[in-house]
Amino acid sequence: MPPIKIDHLAVVVDDLPAALNFWQNALGLPLGGTERNDHEAVEIAFLNAGDSRIELLKPTTDDSGIAKYLAKRGAGMHHICFAVQDIEAALKHITAQGVELINETPRTREDGTRYAFVHPKSTGGVLVELYEVTEGLG
Ligand code: ZN
Repeated sequence: MPPIKIDHLAVVVDDLPAALNFWQNALGLPLGGTERNDHEAVEIAFLNAGDSRIELLKPTTDDSGIAKYLAKRGAGMHHICFAVQDIEAALKHITAQGVELINETPRTREDGTRYAFVHPKSTGGVLVELYEVTEGLG
């Protein structure tokens, strides 16, 4: 079953207050919340944009995947995330098309939601995240 919507676009930043000055103050998107993800070693700020969100990612260590990305490519667009209803079914469908995943099995956030990344070498260079939505559908 295809994704429901774009859940968020993620941007890697090296300076969160400076990034918020643009996205929140200048552009005017309301801040939806902030959190830390210690698995990925990032500080996250979500800004609401209608039905979708912008996710700002700031590395909290020097050796995480996001920190290496920032060091190599600089700040900018990082990934696009689609909401899906059944992540197991979505991953099975994607791998059946010969597409390579970064996370063969879904990872779980602190709040219990599950997500997985598709490898950018299978998507034409775009890092794609799938995020399982279990409530608030429709
Ligand atoms: Zn994301």
